[in-house]
Amino acid sequence: MSMKKRLHQSAITSKKVCVIGGGASGLVAARELRKEGHEVVVYERGSHLGGVWVYSSDYESDSLGVDPTRQIVHSSLYASLRTNVAREAMGFTDFPFVPTGKPGRDSRRFPAHQEVLRYLEDFANKFELNELIRYQTEVTHVSLEENRKWLVKHTRIGGGDKGSKVDETFDAVVVCNGHFTEPRIADKIPGIDLWPGKQIHSHNYRTPEPYQHKVVVLIGLSSSSFDISRDIAGLAKEVHITTRSEDVRRFGKHPVYDNMWLHPMVERAHEDGRVSFQDGTEVLADVILHCTGYKYHFPFIHTNGVVNVDDNRVGPLYKHVFPPTLAPGLSFVGVPSFVLAFFVAELQSKWIAGVLSGWISLPSKEKMMEDIEVFYSGLEAKGVPKHYTHKIHDFKPPFGPFEYEDWLAMQSGCSPAEEWRKGISFGTLARFLRLPETYRDVWEDEDLIVQAYDDFMQYLS
Ligand code: FAD
Repeated sequence: MSMKKRLHQSAITSKKVCVIGGGASGLVAARELRKEGHEVVVYERGSHLGGVWVYSSDYESDSLGVDPTRQIVHSSLYASLRTNVAREAMGFTDFPFVPTGKPGRDSRRFPAHQEVLRYLEDFANKFELNELIRYQTEVTHVSLEENRKWLVKHTRIGGGDKGSKVDETFDAVVVCNGHFTEPRIADKIPGIDLWPGKQIHSHNYRTPEPYQHKVVVLIGLSSSSFDISRDIAGLAKEVHITTRSEDVRRFGKHPVYDNMWLHPMVERAHEDGRVSFQDGTEVLADVILHCTGYKYHFPFIHTNGVVNVDDNRVGPLYKHVFPPTLAPGLSFVGVPSFVLAFFVAELQSKWIAGVLSGWISLPSKEKMMEDIEVFYSGLEAKGVPKHYTHKIHDFKPPFGPFEYEDWLAMQSGCSPAEEWRKGISFGTLARFLRLPETYRDVWEDEDLIVQAYDDFMQYLS
C-alpha cells in the first residue's frame, strides 16, 4: 500500500459501482474497484469475457457496418491475428503475460489472438472476477438521477429470462465498452454509389478465402490494413493499398509481394468497376476493403449532451477519463488509443477506484474544464485533427515519453512505467517501421526482455 493511500485510509468509502463491459478494461476495472472495497457488478452483453479478444467467425449482415439496425458482432478480430505488441509490454503490471507452458498455449512473443483470450481468462480466474460478471446482459440506458445516483437499465439478451429488463441504481458507473466495433468509413468516394463491386469494413474481415482471384483495394495504412493485405496476398489476384501519405517514394509495386501495390488515395469509383487513384493510375477492382478505423459509440449514455462524441472526440473528459460535471460518478476506461491498452486501463482503473474511495481527490470542476480547454488548444496549435484527441502516442520517431501513463501512475501512488516496458514498446514500433515483414519474429532487444523477466519474478513465484 502506498504512503499516499495509507495517509488517506480514514477517508475511504465503499461505493456500489456498475462496470459496463467485460473486456480487458472492464476486467481490470472490476479488479481494482473491488481491491478498494467497492461493491462491483460487471454487465457484459456477450456470453464470454474478453471483449475484442473473443474471436467470432460471424460477421455482420451489413458488411460496411453502417446500418444501425444490423445485428452487432462485437469483435473485429481476423482468424490469423497475432498481437502487434510484445507480450511482456502488453500484460497487466502484477500479472505478467508470460508463456504458461501449458499444452495448447502459444508461447510466442507476439502470440495469436487465442493466447490473449486465455491470458484474460487466467487473469479473471486468478482474481475471481467471474463472480462479478453478469453475462448476456446489455446496458441500454445510463443517466443521472436527481438524488445523484446513476440509473442503469439493462436487458437480458440470452438465457431463460431473455428479454427481461431491470432498472438499478448505482453510486458510480465505469464505462468500458471498447471502441473497435462501430466502423468509420472512408470519406464518401465520388462515384461509389454506382460502383458495382463489394465493399466491406475490416471489422467484418475474417479469413482470406473469399478474396481468391479477386482484385482488392484496401483503404488505409493501419495495422489492420497491414495484416489483412498480407493475409489475402497469397490468394488474391491483386492487392492495392491506398494511403493519405504523401511520400511518393513509397508508391508503386511492393518490394516483397509480386501482387501488391501502394497508391495515393482513391479519387473516384466508376460504374464499370474501375477505381482510380489520385496519381492517375486505375484498376478494375472486385472489392473495396475499408481499413479506416472505428468510432467511439456510447448509445446507452444519456447526459443531456454533457458527454458527447464530436468528430471522434469524446468530450469533455478530464485526462480521457472523467467528464468534469459528472465526476466522479461517471468515468471511462480504455478511451485512449495508440497506447498499451491493458497497462493504461489498469492505471486509469486504479485512479478511478481511489477517487471513488475518497483517498484521491480530483481538482474542482472548473479546474478540470480549464485543463481540458488547455489540452484542446494545445492540439489545435499543433495542427492535430479533432479525431485524434485520444491518440496518446505517435507511431513514428521520435517516440515520445510515457507522460500520460506516468501522470496516471502518480495519481494513485504507483511507480511510473518500467523502462523496459517503454523500451520494448517503442522498439517494436521502430522495428515495424524498419522491418515490417519480420518484426514479430526477429528482434534484438534481449536485454530489455531480461529486465522485464527480472521484474516478473516477484509475481511468478
Ligand atoms: P473491448 O475488448 O472491446 O471490450 C468491451 C466489452 O464491452 C465487450 O465485451 C462488449 O461485449 C461489452 N459491451 C459493449 N457494449 C455493451 C453494453 N451496452 N452492455 C454490456 N456490455 C457491453 N491491443 C493490444 O494491446 N495488443 C494488440 O496486439 C492489439 N491488437 C488489436 C487488434 C485488433 C483487430 C483490435 C480491434 C484491437 C487490438 N488491440 C490490441 C486493442 C484492444 O482493443 C485492447 O487490447 C483491449 O482489448 C480493449 O479492451 P476494452 O475492454 O477496452 O474493449
